[in-house]
Amino acid sequence: MPHFVKGVIKFQNEVYPEKKELFEKLSKGQAPEALFITCSDSRIETAMITQTDPGELFICRNAGNIVPPHTNQTGAMTASIEFAVAALKVPHIVICGHTECGAMKGALEPEGLASLPHVKEWLGFSKAAVDVVRELAPDASPKVRMQMLLEQNVILQLTHLRTHPSVAARLAKGDLKIHGWVYDIETGAVGAYDEALNEFVPVDERYAKEVAALMSKDCSA
Ligand SMILES: [Zn+2]
Repeated sequence: MPHFVKGVIKFQNEVYPEKKELFEKLSKGQAPEALFITCSDSRIETAMITQTDPGELFICRNAGNIVPPHTNQTGAMTASIEFAVAALKVPHIVICGHTECGAMKGALEPEGLASLPHVKEWLGFSKAAVDVVRELAPDASPKVRMQMLLEQNVILQLTHLRTHPSVAARLAKGDLKIHGWVYDIETGAVGAYDEALNEFVPVDERYAKEVAALMSKDCSA
């Protein structure tokens, strides 16, 4: 029996009973805290990384955590973003890239994608990030270039995200925050984009103010 089938049986017998109340509450509706856009890569476990329960993240995944810029053509990402932002009114959107990303490797070396025409076309949405890396670091080592591309791709997709009308409207209103992250599979580190510094910093540093506010609230409670 495949491991994942065994898992469902274990979930029903052991995990579900422990969280029965939560699942019953969730059957009435959802109010997720964030739209979480990340890569399809099997090594990213969103619930584990963010320590969230079902109902907390509205998740969209695709090769390369890409958000195509808004056009009048309907696609899965466009519809999902519109639903999360305009209907569910998520207060946050996170775009999360990751180390060892096969999609980003392909974007850097599109010659290797001859037998994957759809992947090749899809990665066209990351081309501006590749061009930025080629311009800024023409002589950097492959490792440095790849890290740079992971970050530049997240920044580019944040830019694309802003072209979606539902996102633009909520940003203008000031009740939506967008975040760019890169997750390191090997170390568990998460870098978060700091717009003021124009660089990625460790997540605890990036959200130091929010963490401090939460700590003082916990202490006074
Ligand atoms: Zn990936």
